[in-house]
Amino acid sequence: MTEDERNPVVEKPIVAIKDEDSFEVAAESAPSFTDGEGELLCGYTDENGNVHKTFGFRDINGMDEEEIAKAKNSGNDMKTSLKALERSLLYLGDIVKKEVGNEAFVKILRKLYIYDLDFMLMSLRTYLVGGTLQFKAQCPVCGTRLDVEEETSNLEIMPFDGVTSKSFELSKGFGLTTKDGIINKGTVRMPVVADIEAIYSVLKINPVKGTTILLSRVCKFDNGAFMTEDFLRKLSMKERKKLQEVLMSMRFGIVPHINVDCSECGRTIMLQVGEAESFLG
Ligand SMILES: [Zn+2]
Repeated sequence: MTEDERNPVVEKPIVAIKDEDSFEVAAESAPSFTDGEGELLCGYTDENGNVHKTFGFRDINGMDEEEIAKAKNSGNDMKTSLKALERSLLYLGDIVKKEVGNEAFVKILRKLYIYDLDFMLMSLRTYLVGGTLQFKAQCPVCGTRLDVEEETSNLEIMPFDGVTSKSFELSKGFGLTTKDGIINKGTVRMPVVADIEAIYSVLKINPVKGTTILLSRVCKFDNGAFMTEDFLRKLSMKERKKLQEVLMSMRFGIVPHINVDCSECGRTIMLQVGEAESFLG
């Protein structure tokens, strides 16, 4: 197994980027997942530069559930999540769904950063079915099967530090060959919902390939050229890792894992928040 396979940069969309390192968590009061309303950490910036952060839900009914179930048939969890939000969200900042129409509204949701979307989904979940996350786990030491519950209000939240793209530098000799020489610097932007939606089916089957495609969407050389999938496939593991680290360093929002102690042997087990039982049917 390669390093890449052990540490896929993306996995389930609820918490799309996995990082086994510890996270710095803000000590100040974290935003909570409450009654049908909330505020994103980063938010959506429209063409006039206005930032839209607040959001509100309505309850869903049988008709909504049918639509969500239909989306679920696609096998693409990001599409299912988007459908749930399309049905239940009423507004995002000053943008009211009724006024702009569903299609334009979903187009905007696709531009949200994935960590904002995770946060919004957790809020929706808390609103619709309550704040208890349920996990099925097995202790790797003693084999005990564990039913774990965690309240969404106990999830740790990483603050957004205002950074949505960062520069990368590949090692000497690696880079894009141009007539003026090799370009080895560029920028990585934070992934948005549309990125994960597009790569989701690949991601499910082959996380490494999914990561390659994701990197090709978000990495750009200083001359404006995107990094191609072909380039990324030929890139060494070390250099790929560098890009993934830049990508992961921009993470904010819900810390993607919780720690629980085995009730039998006391061993601390790390569970991925994205592995909690789905609330969307
Ligand atoms: Zn145990």
